[in-house]
Amino acid sequence: MIALKELKAAQPDLASAVDLQIALLDIQRRLQGRVPLPWISAEDTWLQDQERAGRALVRFGDIPLEWSDFRLAFRQNADVLLRFDALESADHQAIVALAREGNALEPVVEQWYKATSGTGELRPEGLPASLDHVLVLALRPFLAKCAEVLRQRTPLTTSHSTCPFCGWEPDFAVIMPSAERHLICGRCWAQWAFEPLTCPYCRNNDRARITSFATRDGRYRVYGCDVCHRYLKAYDGRNASRTVMVAVDTIATLPLDAAAMQRGYS
Ligand SMILES: [Zn+2]
Ligand SMILES: [Zn+2]
Repeated sequence: MIALKELKAAQPDLASAVDLQIALLDIQRRLQGRVPLPWISAEDTWLQDQERAGRALVRFGDIPLEWSDFRLAFRQNADVLLRFDALESADHQAIVALAREGNALEPVVEQWYKATSGTGELRPEGLPASLDHVLVLALRPFLAKCAEVLRQRTPLTTSHSTCPFCGWEPDFAVIMPSAERHLICGRCWAQWAFEPLTCPYCRNNDRARITSFATRDGRYRVYGCDVCHRYLKAYDGRNASRTVMVAVDTIATLPLDAAAMQRGYS
């Protein structure tokens, strides 16, 4: 929170994005303390097979979902996004209606998690696309606990281009002091090592077709892939005084999104 306030003071044009992030973190932190460590029922051999195949380790049934806590966080996240114009009013109405209607939310969350963790299930239909954003935020504290437990239990042995724990895409990265690059899951914020110059979105590893540029202060770096035209931002921890702070660094690098898009990446 202090780092976010410092960022806001240093870059007033990011004020609204910082305030949104503070409001979302507030919900996340209140929930975090209440989420129990999950009991993962899967056998070690099953987990190791999943890991080797590059499939997500967290099954829906292992997420320690306490539905009244989840429902409250889901609603609060939607309200905050609406307040900061990050959610359209019609979408907000559809989303909160889902949370209000008896047990309508549970099967949607289950189907959505299965569809987005690589099980082959189809996404729930007839819901606004912005539901993704709200579900990612509301599930994060629960999935983070699962990743915490599984990280201790299942060693990572293969190269994962999606989150080894929840199967979501990486949406940030950190270059470690050793120059190793870790990807960071956009959903559960787990980190894992990945080849420093391979595109995680299409696995292009031709260095000539990866465009990489740094910010003037050297703190951040962007990798644009000239095959799939997607980009990934990273915090460069090689000469830094602190480790990566996902909640802060993803906001501090918002101006880099515009720079990457100007170069034709998305
Ligand atoms: Zn994840
Ligand atoms: Zn690519």
